[in-house]
Amino acid sequence: MKEQQLNKILGKAQDICNHSGGRLTSKRKGILELMLLSNVPLSAYEVTDKYNKSTGSSMAAMSVYRILDFLETEQLVHKLSSTNKYVACSHIACSHTHEIPQFLICGKCQSVKEIAIAKRIADELEQEVANAGYKLVNSQLELQCICEKCS
Ligand SMILES: [Zn+2]
Ligand SMILES: [Zn+2]
Ligand SMILES: [Zn+2]
Repeated sequence: MKEQQLNKILGKAQDICNHSGGRLTSKRKGILELMLLSNVPLSAYEVTDKYNKSTGSSMAAMSVYRILDFLETEQLVHKLSSTNKYVACSHIACSHTHEIPQFLICGKCQSVKEIAIAKRIADELEQEVANAGYKLVNSQLELQCICEKCS
């Protein structure tokens, strides 16, 4: 990612936090930047390790968890429940509202692509679940795929 692009996304992330009343502290921003520069999803421990190595600090994993939690609430990062890893949102600098994400996960290189699920499909899924007598609590989809590069 080019620095200009990175700065644009970080600026937009700042706006999003200002809007919601959350504070994008330098630590939170540092973690988000690290996530944006990663090509693969990272576990909280991997984030902790990378952050501490690149900044020469010794932040505890627990603090990193809390930061990831915050960033997740702001929809700046997403948690993949299938792998328990985090990815930066691909739509931070977009002007549209954030839709229900669908993640395409490459089984070979672990790269992840975030696309939006069509409202119609999300509604249908929810209906199917309701028909079965269940209530859908998270409609995020994680699909195992092979990416363009790896196929
Ligand atoms: Zn997103
Ligand atoms: Zn977008
Ligand atoms: Zn791949």
